Amino acid sequence: MRCPLCAAENDDRAIVCRSCTRDIAVPPALMAELDMLRAKREALVQALEQVHARLDSLMRPR
Ligand SMILES: [Zn+2]
Repeated sequence: MRCPLCAAENDDRAIVCRSCTRDIAVPPALMAELDMLRAKREALVQALEQVHARLDSLMRPR
């Protein structure tokens, strides 16, 4: 895993960066929440695109 702070490459299980010694471990619960939020965002983006398409068809002059 790359350190988000100094970009040094670290072991995936590293808790602190071997270069800048900052805390880089992310709790599994946070990773799961991040995955869930990414999926939610993807669903919202798709819903928004559908709304835009619908608006476009409604706004088109007849
Ligand atoms: Zn670092």
